[in-house]
Amino acid sequence: MDKTLHIVGGGMAGSEAAWQAARMGVNVVIHEMRPQVGTFAHRTGDLAEMVCSNSFRSDDDEQNAVGLLHWEMRKAGGLIMEMADAHRLPAGGALAVDRDPFARAVTDRLRAHPNVSVETGEITDLPDDGQWIFATGPLTSEKLGQSIARETGSTALAFFDAIAPIVYFDTIDMDKAWMQSRYDKGDTEEERTAYLNCPMDRDQYEAFIDALLAAEKTEFHEGETAQYFDGCLPIEVMAERGRETLRHGPMKPVGLTNPHQPDVKAHAVVQLRRDNALGTLYNIVGFQTKMKYGAQTSVFKMIPGLENAAFARLGGIHRNTFLNSPTLLDAQMRLRARPNIRFAGQITGVEGYVESAAMGLLAGRLAAAELLGKDVPAPPQDSAMGALIHHITGGAEAKTFQPMNVNFGLFRPVDGLKGGRRGRRDRYKAYTDRAKAAWSDWLAQCPLDESEPV
Ligand SMILES: Cc1cc2nc3c(=O)[nH]c(=O)nc-3n(C[C@H](O)[C@H](O)[C@H](O)COP(=O)(O)OP(=O)(O)OC[C@H]3O[C@@H](n4cnc5c(N)ncnc54)[C@H](O)[C@@H]3O)c2cc1C
Repeated sequence: MDKTLHIVGGGMAGSEAAWQAARMGVNVVIHEMRPQVGTFAHRTGDLAEMVCSNSFRSDDDEQNAVGLLHWEMRKAGGLIMEMADAHRLPAGGALAVDRDPFARAVTDRLRAHPNVSVETGEITDLPDDGQWIFATGPLTSEKLGQSIARETGSTALAFFDAIAPIVYFDTIDMDKAWMQSRYDKGDTEEERTAYLNCPMDRDQYEAFIDALLAAEKTEFHEGETAQYFDGCLPIEVMAERGRETLRHGPMKPVGLTNPHQPDVKAHAVVQLRRDNALGTLYNIVGFQTKMKYGAQTSVFKMIPGLENAAFARLGGIHRNTFLNSPTLLDAQMRLRARPNIRFAGQITGVEGYVESAAMGLLAGRLAAAELLGKDVPAPPQDSAMGALIHHITGGAEAKTFQPMNVNFGLFRPVDGLKGGRRGRRDRYKAYTDRAKAAWSDWLAQCPLDESEPV
């Protein structure tokens, strides 16, 4: 049996996967198409190129979920974090990175490892045998995208994300909002109360439309609009088409009765839908948007019930190739239909440099363990790594699956702690303490080997 691990895509995820597998003693071949074949965002032929911002976001491992992910990757000997730390730029509590020396250092370290080789060239098909990790990212080449779509069914592979903002449930004012599906539809009580509704009167609606029209927006990249415009318009574009458009679209006030004011008919209603099995996250239905992040927070806080909302992630629309992982991948990130193939990084439906590298780290370890015939327990759900992989491979709603950043809404609640804003510091500290213990235990069960290649 061929004991080589092939990794397609030498970005954040592929580079980290290669490092982890190589350090476990497995021979790794990285197949990277750049610089032979380019993308609209990459500029170089280096591995782990950062395509846009140079930030790994918060480095606070006690109060921030992405900072916790940094901690977990450092603890696992992650190459991306080691090189980010070595090329750190001053940025307050954030981890900003000097991008070119960072990418060069990742490339040099991988090329220098005796178990790693890098082959330049585009892979266009899913192979029938051998162990493979596909980590081709949001800009997966067109031919490979078509091949994945053929294998998975075209509805299971998206080429654009259209992300509606996601709110932490415990920051929604339920004295204003209420749970009800339109016309009380559904066979079970859970279905009849599947939506969370925020009512607006005429003045609130008009002010909201004014704010949407005035908000700062981001521009589309060339070629980004074509497929996406068929399906899901950004709310600000709907508002531009007519002041009443939203009231006849995602904000229509029909089939709903506000139990707080049963005699008052709402002029418009914003609906939110549960986004994860834990019920800690709710997405605002139909609210995909290209508004800038600062504008989104102020505009969405005008919605009655969301005045104090905290957002697990804000909305966006981008060119982004990603799988419907909850239906396609098993808990080990293998394609259910072809278990010799794993996926990692942004293509699995996580979003961001750090999250992508984290999923690469897990995929690299899990694939290497499989090649070496070692049993590795599932990553613990209480760690940031485990919370993220659990979300994409099962916890998320498959029907509405959109890419996700790591956030505390993905974590199981810690018993006995206060909800809401007041208890937040204690709660986050409890999450991160619990995560660190769980992650350290898991790592102790699957140490890096550093032995000779198999
Ligand atoms: C325009 C844009 C801006 C972004 N800005 C940010 C940002 O500011 N901050 C942030 O955190 N995230 C940002 N992202 C998301 C970012 O791309 C990911 O967070 C991260 O790079 C994903 O890591 P990855 O390893 O999954 O993919 P990538 O880092 O993109 O790596 C994938 C690699 O696969 C290669 N590849 C693709 N197809 C093939 C093929 N068929 N054969 C061989 N190789 C192939 C590519 O050349 C690439 O090197 C942005 C994405 C885009 C598209």
